Amino acid sequence: MTHLPNSLQGRDITYLLHPVTNARAHERTGPLVITRGEGVHVFDDSGKDYIEGLAGLWSVALGFSEKRLVEAAIRQLHQLPYMHLFASKGHEPSILLAEKLVQMTPKGLDRVHFTNSGSEANDTVIKMVWFYNNAIGRPEKKKFIGRIKGYHGITIAAGSLTGIPANHKGFDLPLDFARHVSTPHYWRFGHEGETEDQYSDRLAAELEEMILTEGPDTVAAFIGEPLMGAGGVIVPPRGYWPKIQAVCRKYDVLIVADEVINGFGRTGKMFACETYGIEPDILVLSKQITSSYQPLAAVVFSDAIYQGIADGSETLGTFGHGYTTSGHPVATAVGLECISIIEERDLVSNAARMGRILREGLARYKDHPMVGEVRGEGLIAAVEFVSDKATKAGFQPVGLAAQAVMAACQHHGLILRVSGEAVCFCPPLIITEDEIRELLHRFDLAMTDAFAQIAAV
Ligand code: PMP
Repeated sequence: MTHLPNSLQGRDITYLLHPVTNARAHERTGPLVITRGEGVHVFDDSGKDYIEGLAGLWSVALGFSEKRLVEAAIRQLHQLPYMHLFASKGHEPSILLAEKLVQMTPKGLDRVHFTNSGSEANDTVIKMVWFYNNAIGRPEKKKFIGRIKGYHGITIAAGSLTGIPANHKGFDLPLDFARHVSTPHYWRFGHEGETEDQYSDRLAAELEEMILTEGPDTVAAFIGEPLMGAGGVIVPPRGYWPKIQAVCRKYDVLIVADEVINGFGRTGKMFACETYGIEPDILVLSKQITSSYQPLAAVVFSDAIYQGIADGSETLGTFGHGYTTSGHPVATAVGLECISIIEERDLVSNAARMGRILREGLARYKDHPMVGEVRGEGLIAAVEFVSDKATKAGFQPVGLAAQAVMAACQHHGLILRVSGEAVCFCPPLIITEDEIRELLHRFDLAMTDAFAQIAAV
């Protein structure tokens, strides 16, 4: 496609390097320029409407036109547009939001540290845990164990916890403190005749073996998304989290639940830790905390960790970590308003109800010759494609079918996201039944087109 040099597309191609984009391919296609949003819809510069089936980047819980969030931001901009939290400074919205998060998150999480993004939050977790272990006299206990296909961000340290090769390749990652155990994906990796519980036992045994091989005195923490998001919406097998948790407790390995996607209702409960029976030492939140109207993330953690860090600030020196815009007043004010709306409108129940309708609608593709698995929980789902149903083999090149379906969806007015050979669904929490049905209708049109196109190759 050629674009006029002075069009927005032409100027984008001339001036921008896009995140997570093939730069050369982008030079040929140019961007899809989105100009406005309304509810679960966004509109491009030609006026075409799309259902945002991924809520932006798994994040716009309240849709694209929530005036109360805009007003909360404007009120705060008038009152106090900026103040930091360094050197004992404070401001009201960050204090109130910290209090609210401690009250609403699972028990045992007592303190909050704010950052701007999920990646910064996970970098912060690493530094907090290192500082804590230095402070309590176990300086060797520094390694983190994540999982293949886990996503925890893209900064150098958080990116090392991420277990997706595309985020490592070319960047000299991962760093040496990070290890990865298997993806908990029963459909793909469960053995013939193995039950979900037996599979979970096998994964817990793998984790234990890794901790023992590395040396328990060197392993600080295990990090995981309760339900994996960017790796392809992978729902943990039955029994997985309690078994993993038991191994961590046995070796005094901290449990970090990365709920950057899962948090605030996505899995049908306020937090996915409740969905899967996880009692984390550290909980990481972002995205839906402000519906992404403002950049904000929060690390919520136990009193034991706080006490270690507080003691360490006296014995090691000041906790010398934080960002200029950590706990930004506008972002935290928007966060407070966003959480109020999620609670007032009971959007967690809506996510559970709408999720059931979405997953029932997608289940009809289970017998489709190109579909290997339809999976999901709450209002997050994926359809994974296979070239051979019996062997579960994917396509060559990887993602061929998923990319074709995604492109056809875009043509029919539905924005989704691809992960490997899966297309992922994660619409705003405010979505209605009629909108889910329209989303499914557009997906159906796209499946017909993409299937015909692939069958013709
Ligand atoms: N953790 C998880 C689970 C995520 O899904 C993401 C982003 N998709 C991150 C961390 C990183 O967040 P950010 O992009 O805000 O740095």
